[in-house]
Amino acid sequence: AERRRLAASTGPGRTADGHPVELLLNIGSAADLRAGADAEGVGLFRTEFLFLDRRREPGFDEQVAAYEAVFRAFPGGKVVVRTLDAGSDKPLPFLGERREPNPALGVRGLRVARHRPEVLDTQLDAIAAAARASGAEPWVMAPMVSTVAEADDFAARARARGITRVGAMIEVPAAALLADRLLERLDFLSVGTNDLSQYAFAADRQHGELADLLDPWQPGLLRLVAECARAGREAGKPVGVCGEAAADPPLAAVLAGLGVTSLSMSAPSLAPVREALAGRTLERCRVGGRLALAAAGPARAREGGAAGRRAPT
Ligand code: PEP
Ligand code: MG
Repeated sequence: AERRRLAASTGPGRTADGHPVELLLNIGSAADLRAGADAEGVGLFRTEFLFLDRRREPGFDEQVAAYEAVFRAFPGGKVVVRTLDAGSDKPLPFLGERREPNPALGVRGLRVARHRPEVLDTQLDAIAAAARASGAEPWVMAPMVSTVAEADDFAARARARGITRVGAMIEVPAAALLADRLLERLDFLSVGTNDLSQYAFAADRQHGELADLLDPWQPGLLRLVAECARAGREAGKPVGVCGEAAADPPLAAVLAGLGVTSLSMSAPSLAPVREALAGRTLERCRVGGRLALAAAGPARAREGGAAGRRAPT
């Protein structure tokens, strides 16, 4: 058992019976790659860290260099770049002070392109240039997509620049419910459970008193994730999770059971999640997933998820 545990602490994500679940890294810059060298790729490159605390937008060349450094770290591997997620909990001074009564419900994420499309276009140009320079074929997704029209607009801008893998983050409940329609236009989805919780439960993600509502084991959240995974399975396209839920080992196994194809997290969670997957067959993960979806609340969902665990040896 000890040998199996050690074998499971490096290498690609696999259930006990060998079903692959990609284990990817959440990063803010190339510096974050060092600690996660054994990941299978990058599942969420939060590009806004390049833009934070800046009076002026970083120039095209600076952006190209930053993206290229990340692409070169995973030659031939998967790197998912998220375009700028500005606004709300990530205000960016160069976009100007916007006074909004509810910034989390305001002009944030992809919505910034409504009044500053050139910021998104420059970023997509820089991603495409970095891809050409490094021979990479990056996956590029937009944050806060809420409608098919927004997905179409984003996909058209990205594909016009030669970007071939275009996706959306699912952070808004309406988008989760339209996952099948979105996948008619897009190549992949990535569920951001941090914001999806916030918007599904109408609970500020930074509000400590509402932590119970933001529990990633809430069946209401898991049903939205399951809807995305189902749409992915039917379309034959990848659907990953890149929010905090993916970093909770027993929940990661439940997500795999729901049909999620990749899990993206910060470096310290890679080994425990890898071990959780290696300790369960895909069928056990599916049983855990069904029990969690059927639960009335998060405590029961946790018990159901644990029921999917392999008997101790
Ligand atoms: C999320 O919302 O789950 C997510 C991964 O994006 P961020 O935490 O950067 O908003
Ligand atoms: Mg988010």
